[in-house]
Amino acid sequence: MNQCSASPKTYYLWTIGCQMNEADSRRLADGLTALGYRAAPRAEQADLVVLNTCVVRRSAEDKVVGRLSSLKGLKRRRPEMLLAVMGCFVGDVSRLRQKYPYVDIFAAPSDVDAILALARRRAASNEHPAPSTQQPVAAYVPVSTGCDHRCTYCIVRLRRGPQRSRPIDEIVAEVRELVGRGAREVTLLGQNVDAYGTDLPDRPDLADVLYAVHRVEGLWRIRFLTSHPADMTGRLIETVAALPKVCEHIELPVQSGDDDVLRRMARRYTVAEYRDLVARIRAALPGTGLATDVIVGFCGESEAQFQNTYRLLEELRFDMVHVAAYSPRPGTPAARWPDDVPPAEKERRRQAVDDLQKRIAGEINARFLGQTVEVLVEDLHRGKWRGRTRTNKLVFFTDDADWRGKLALVEITWSGPWSMLGRVRGAVDPPSP
Ligand code: SF4
Repeated sequence: MNQCSASPKTYYLWTIGCQMNEADSRRLADGLTALGYRAAPRAEQADLVVLNTCVVRRSAEDKVVGRLSSLKGLKRRRPEMLLAVMGCFVGDVSRLRQKYPYVDIFAAPSDVDAILALARRRAASNEHPAPSTQQPVAAYVPVSTGCDHRCTYCIVRLRRGPQRSRPIDEIVAEVRELVGRGAREVTLLGQNVDAYGTDLPDRPDLADVLYAVHRVEGLWRIRFLTSHPADMTGRLIETVAALPKVCEHIELPVQSGDDDVLRRMARRYTVAEYRDLVARIRAALPGTGLATDVIVGFCGESEAQFQNTYRLLEELRFDMVHVAAYSPRPGTPAARWPDDVPPAEKERRRQAVDDLQKRIAGEINARFLGQTVEVLVEDLHRGKWRGRTRTNKLVFFTDDADWRGKLALVEITWSGPWSMLGRVRGAVDPPSP
């Protein structure tokens, strides 16, 4: 029975952007729940509204600005509502305060504690924790924030600062805690996860983290992202191959298939080096799910240079390609260069990559037809169970039993470029310990 006379405070959390933001939002939601807050379905019903933002592309920034404008009226009508903004939108705080005086707090990316401190003050009269939220089966765990690279188009490193790695003990403790609450899979996150530990005293590396996390009992699967082609070591690839819980799934952004463009992006590898790395990964981890990111229409990208990217994607046949049209981000070196590929041409290139990838992913996934795959079931989505293979393929199936948080053997009966359908054939024993 709740002995507190006041009703619990509520929060509304809006998140866009990368997995790091999702992880920060999860930590914030956990912290708010512990303070006695409950999730509200809409901003209008919340005592605390948090926007966890992204500015990696112009379109994302426009969404944040739109959201902030629409909340202005709400804040005027309900001045007691707290409005917090965190994430990569938060750069020059004094300028933001001038522009958005109705925002109560601007918190730097990942600075969940600043918002929790504000929420704690507001919740002082509600000290009874609310029921905890359902723990996701697959959870994100940041292992480092920030980045020491200097990619010329990237605003993330400007907003998140230099790399700061968390000690291994702290990461393992968080994983244990998540597993204790029902998580079965963790994805270790870093802006450049392969550079983990270069800022720590004993210089541990990501392989050390994988070994430590692998020992957590009750955890079945481990992933990590995002990798950087210049920082992925042979030891890391060997570790993925050696540790059974670590999934055969690598996210390795190439960004361009042209050496001149890569040089102007300051990516620190050549196309030949990238190709060689992919060959080594595929030799060590047969059948691995390989994903990449591509930017089209970067400053000065000629048609021939774009064709080099297109041909590389045709040759390497990724399982997934995240493609974006370049948009200059204020404060980055590339923002000072002419943004000379017209918008319509950028869109044509983006669409060409999308079409190519749709065909390739469709062909790759068609090879699974009739095969039986292991799926970790995450949730029920529109009446179908939804989960992922070790190689990060999305699989749906229908069954009356409760499969949430279980490993299912699923025979694939239909495949498309983005997902597959199947029928369940049985359960898989979880890995031990
Ligand atoms: S590796 Fe490059 S693109 Fe990725 S976060 Fe660092 S600076 Fe940005």
